[in-house]
Amino acid sequence: MARYTGPVCRLCRQEGMKLFLKGNRCETARCAIDRGRPIPGAHGTRRRKISPYAEQLREKQRLRRLYGLMERQFRITFLRAQRRKGITGDNLLKLLETRLDNVVFRLGFGASRAQARQMVQHGHFSIGARPVDRPSYQVRAGQVIRVKAKERCRAAATRNLEMTVKREIPAWLSLDRQELKGQVVRLPERADITIPVNEQLVVELYSK
Ligand code: SF4
Repeated sequence: MARYTGPVCRLCRQEGMKLFLKGNRCETARCAIDRGRPIPGAHGTRRRKISPYAEQLREKQRLRRLYGLMERQFRITFLRAQRRKGITGDNLLKLLETRLDNVVFRLGFGASRAQARQMVQHGHFSIGARPVDRPSYQVRAGQVIRVKAKERCRAAATRNLEMTVKREIPAWLSLDRQELKGQVVRLPERADITIPVNEQLVVELYSK
């Protein structure tokens, strides 16, 4: 699957917010946003007034980059959100939040979403009795995500749990650090997803 391989802090600078793409570095004083690094480009220190369309586009890019999806995959997720009952923006966030790679990140088994995705792809987890290596897998309420018994899987998860010990586990998930497993207690509500993005702008962009 295609993925962005350029400098990730540049993406945060472009979006003007922390996207948490570098794992633990994002929580330190070395973060480019915390250091006040400007927007990339020759006129980076100035933010021009932007059109409503550009604002919608920016918001979409923020959300897409935050969850580490390429355009095509993000669009597919949006179409699925649209087909579901309820508010499309809420559905979109819930679908993004319940991706397996995001759940692994939220539980602290991965320092960043990119790392969590790689661990999933490398077969570090099973759900129930079944190994799952698809980052886009949608978790369901009640499911248990386990780190496999292999030494390298447990070592990586344990190391990351130590590094992410301060990360708050969302109310809809529970974590058993000893057993290296997490459970989806319930599906997330919109109020559980506290990322600073206006999803309505994304809906407006794709509804044109
Ligand atoms: Fe973004 Fe993390 Fe880089 Fe800070 S350290 S700019 S949050 S990727």
